[in-house]
Amino acid sequence: MKTVRRGVLLMVLCIHPWPAAAGEPDRGADTVHQVSTLGALLAGDYDGRARFRELRALGDFGLGTFDRLHGDMVAVDGRFFRVRTDGTTTRVRPNETTPFAVVTSFRPDQAFHLRGPLSCDALTEQIESRFASDERPQAIRVTGEFSLLETRSVPAQEEPYVPLEEALLGQVVFDFYHVDANMVGFWMPEVLDGVNAGGFHFHALTKDETAGGHVLACEALSVKVAIDQIDRLEVRFGSLGGHPRRSRQGSQVP
Ligand SMILES: [Zn+2]
Repeated sequence: MKTVRRGVLLMVLCIHPWPAAAGEPDRGADTVHQVSTLGALLAGDYDGRARFRELRALGDFGLGTFDRLHGDMVAVDGRFFRVRTDGTTTRVRPNETTPFAVVTSFRPDQAFHLRGPLSCDALTEQIESRFASDERPQAIRVTGEFSLLETRSVPAQEEPYVPLEEALLGQVVFDFYHVDANMVGFWMPEVLDGVNAGGFHFHALTKDETAGGHVLACEALSVKVAIDQIDRLEVRFGSLGGHPRRSRQGSQVP
């Protein structure tokens, strides 16, 4: 069962780069690779700058958005999806691009089960209590049954781009009840605010891979939580894979 309604605000995002001439990017299991920064996205920088072909080589797990902010991205087990505002999902093609994404090779250090009902706040409180460090980013996968999953997606933007807060006024919200799903996300320390967003950020994909989006609210009934502690964050400011960016003409905030 699913209802769709035009909705409200709210959202978090991320950002940062790695040196263009640094040679091969680190492909270690505990590295998070990020395209651009949340600060740039908040300011309305929505032009795709990295191809998913290259991102797939850097991770099998993650979240993000697409060129022109067109939909929400979620990656699970190496399968990358776009959640559209009409509620459908499509597999991401290698040539599609993103202005902001966060991926890693997910190799959990610990896993445990939780029984609910647990609101998202209660769930994340339990998860945070298991972190081995409060200074290092964490990649988190929550798999199981949810009595409620509220997600959203964002429609494509046109230039001149408005800031993210304004763009999110056009978001579409989806409510799912009693659904099996994966929540894929990250916890970042507050010192990374601006580069990314301090705290938790989850995107979801239903088990049948037909729906999902940026998680606004949830209630978990019976879930498995897996956590991969991260020891390195690589942020990319320029293009990835030599993809030319579109002209910036008219897209700058005055
Ligand atoms: Zn998101």
